[in-house]
Amino acid sequence: MECTTTANPLTLGDLRSSPQTVAQNPGLPLLTRVLNLLAILLPLAGLIIAMVYVWGWGFNWLYLGLLIGMYILTGLGVTIGFHRLFTHRSFRTNRVVESVFAILGSMSVEGPMLQWVATHRCHHQHSDHEDDPHSPHTFGGGFLNIIRGLWRAHVGWIFEAESKNLDRYLADFKDDRLIKSISAMFPLWAALGFIVPGAIAFAFTQTLTGAMLGVLWGGLVRLFFVHHVTWSVNSVCHVWGSQPFRSHDESRNNPIVGVLGFGEGWHNNHHAFPTSARHGLAWWQIDTSYMVIWTMKRLGLARDVRTPNAQRINAKRRLPVPGDDSTA
Ligand SMILES: [Zn+2]
Ligand SMILES: [Zn+2]
Repeated sequence: MECTTTANPLTLGDLRSSPQTVAQNPGLPLLTRVLNLLAILLPLAGLIIAMVYVWGWGFNWLYLGLLIGMYILTGLGVTIGFHRLFTHRSFRTNRVVESVFAILGSMSVEGPMLQWVATHRCHHQHSDHEDDPHSPHTFGGGFLNIIRGLWRAHVGWIFEAESKNLDRYLADFKDDRLIKSISAMFPLWAALGFIVPGAIAFAFTQTLTGAMLGVLWGGLVRLFFVHHVTWSVNSVCHVWGSQPFRSHDESRNNPIVGVLGFGEGWHNNHHAFPTSARHGLAWWQIDTSYMVIWTMKRLGLARDVRTPNAQRINAKRRLPVPGDDSTA
């Protein structure tokens, strides 16, 4: 969904001429900042514990399966559910599938779903401009400013005050009691993201140590990777990569994030065609999320799947600059 109200690409201008004054941002309440800090540090601590203390004795096919399985399920919950279904309405589905994706995405511990949706719609409306919640180009050009910007776009923005009036991005959810309830029950789903792998590991091992290792690998370590791949779309994909399309911002196609992020790294494509269910527009641009949506359509679980036709794609292509292969 190309964001509502006053979005006018022609007014977005050159961000570097209007750096934000983030230092004046009053930030979030202390308790929220502490909880956000824990949500970032605990998965990191889990990864360190797993690598340093557990690797030699507490990792086997069961825990690898939990790590990868939970990464795929909760990651697709964000990419297909939070992003392509609820934020951009790039396809439609039934209420059961909607609920499943909303819950899986919530297990990625990226905040209540509707807050995620509103923040992301705000990002599209103001992408790399003054009111973008997480642009890496906040501080202007130059190497050090880009490093500061990358840090802000990756995790720093999580500690800033929420953008004002986020509710105005959620008009289409006003009467959707089911989705609003699921979003409000975020702490329960976040906890489930640890309980499920712990319970599965306990079922296999019948030991408390086994259950705790399930929580470690399928919960904390999995969360570390889901978080940082998601945040790389905000940071890396607005700095490094190609820009085959005109999109009025600094969005880039980054193949590494494209693969790890289930297709979300084809981010210049996405900013050029925000309502498209397909982000990997070329045959070689692997887009696992779209493969799942395509399969769901064949199974009758997705309808009105939106993708741009060749004419629209070609109309937005940047004109090739002689000697510049970044638009290829
Ligand atoms: Zn973006
Ligand atoms: Zn988007």
